[in-house]
Amino acid sequence: MAITRRELITTIAMTGGTAAVAVTVGTGTLHAETEGPRIPSAAVGLLYDATVCIGCKACVAACAEANGETPDTRGDSLHQAPTDLNDLTRNIIKLYKPTDGTPASFVKRQCMHCLDPACAAGCPFQALHKDLESGIVYWTADKCIGCRYCTITCPYHVPRFQWVGYNPRVTKCELCSHRLAQGLKPGCTSVCPTGAVIFGPRTVLLTEGKRRIKETPGRYYKDKVYGETDNGGTQSLYLSRVPFDDLGLPELGEESVPEKTLRWQRRFYQYFALPALLYAGLVQVIRKSVKGHVEEAHEHEKETGLRAQL
Ligand code: SF4
Ligand code: SF4
Ligand code: SF4
Repeated sequence: MAITRRELITTIAMTGGTAAVAVTVGTGTLHAETEGPRIPSAAVGLLYDATVCIGCKACVAACAEANGETPDTRGDSLHQAPTDLNDLTRNIIKLYKPTDGTPASFVKRQCMHCLDPACAAGCPFQALHKDLESGIVYWTADKCIGCRYCTITCPYHVPRFQWVGYNPRVTKCELCSHRLAQGLKPGCTSVCPTGAVIFGPRTVLLTEGKRRIKETPGRYYKDKVYGETDNGGTQSLYLSRVPFDDLGLPELGEESVPEKTLRWQRRFYQYFALPALLYAGLVQVIRKSVKGHVEEAHEHEKETGLRAQL
């Protein structure tokens, strides 16, 4: 059961904090799926092709504008030039520039809208959740208690926490759902001059990614669309000529992070049972041994007539 921030604060006030701990423990494990993540019926997403991105950052400015963010000019009062995702920046363009002469590449980073989001699995109050139809991963302000677990559990380091203000928020891309509701495209895809980032249904984007790979053999790293199966699958998909790992997209395998965690949890408890049984057996042996020694001592006392002096 989800609990709002207000309910939590009321609970803490009424119980002196102990109930809040119980609630946290009670809702801590949210992911119980075992058959792999399901693809939402109307899953939408982004396809970013790093090989055609020119690094103009029009998408960064459009993202800030579309989301009503104050342009991030900290560190440079004239230009909006954030170096990474932050509490004012949901979308960033980075440059991967190797020193060994191999090709450089831009990379666009925003939420991956994972099919099985670790941020949501790690959030004790379901402040982050995945919409079952569109698959967009949302953050809900009134459920967030500011624990920042989501910033740790996300394997792509996407959610960013606001460190100022009395009611801090978590910032991440929500696929411009407010624009989608108006029949508009996400801010970033509406301004990209080269079509490096496009929006659409995940199935269409995947088909488009595979079409590009087929039509230009040797152009793309491993002829692979990152996100088709990586980390259980994502709704932000990537094409690149350089290894995805170099662009901050780790090789996570096909199993999602929450699935992996669940498997390890099960294994831990499975193997924890054996030492527990051994321990219980050991306790029985010790108890029997002690009992035997006590009886033996009593027998000895009887035989020798030895008694404590009263
Ligand atoms: S990329 Fe991170 S924040 Fe986005 S859905 Fe996946 S786990 Fe959540
Ligand atoms: S979809 Fe919207 S919020 Fe997400 S990166 Fe693009 S412009 Fe930013
Ligand atoms: S607007 Fe398009 S080309 Fe320009 S940086 Fe963004 S993704 Fe790359």
